[in-house]
Amino acid sequence: MKSQIEKSNFGSKTWLEIRRSISHLIYPDHCLICELELLKDASAICSFCEAEMHFTHFEKYTEPTELDKLFWGRIKITGTFALLFFEKGKSTQKILHALKYKSNPVVGVEFGEEIAKRIKSMNQFNDLDALIPVPIHPKKAFIRGYNQSEQIAKGMANVLAIPVDTHFLKKQEHTESQTKRGRFDRWDNVADNFVLRKQFKKPKHIAIIDDVITTGATIEALVRSIHKNYPEIRVSIISLALTK
Ligand SMILES: [Zn+2]
Repeated sequence: MKSQIEKSNFGSKTWLEIRRSISHLIYPDHCLICELELLKDASAICSFCEAEMHFTHFEKYTEPTELDKLFWGRIKITGTFALLFFEKGKSTQKILHALKYKSNPVVGVEFGEEIAKRIKSMNQFNDLDALIPVPIHPKKAFIRGYNQSEQIAKGMANVLAIPVDTHFLKKQEHTESQTKRGRFDRWDNVADNFVLRKQFKKPKHIAIIDDVITTGATIEALVRSIHKNYPEIRVSIISLALTK
């Protein structure tokens, strides 16, 4: 595989492909991430944002990555991947902001496709049979118009031809102590109450798709609840960004 460092540089082939595919969409005259005005023949992502992108290059690691180590001793994981390192003030923060607060689902799809291209060569993901986005509060999804992790999963599905399953995880009824908390608090504390819907065909290896991983607490709770009910299902974790 060609060096990803070369590819991630400004003017690289990978990003040229992305530019071509999104340049005709929502903001053709402004950078999709920072809204800087672009030259007519320029891309949808400006050169400043592109130069600032901090790729993890985890797809080239032969040793365990920071993300692997984050879950050591906590939960059993088959494979992990994150595309970018998240650092405050850098472009990854702007990407996540564009994805979550600017009604820009296309950002998620495009970065999802980039994730898929990079994990294609990784053996630990070669038998994935479902992509499962981390659920968000229904009110947030309604206001935003979409679940950002689902958009990332959709982009991955375009490249990998693996189905996105948004019905797999079902929220259990609140316990009494949870109903006393605020509505959003309750949702954040409810991750360990997810259960799997009974499916006609049970997947063997699923990937949980997230937008950004910091402590890994939500993921840990999700995986624990999955393994509590279905210890035989293997679980991988794939995120757009990882907090450094
Ligand atoms: Zn920009």
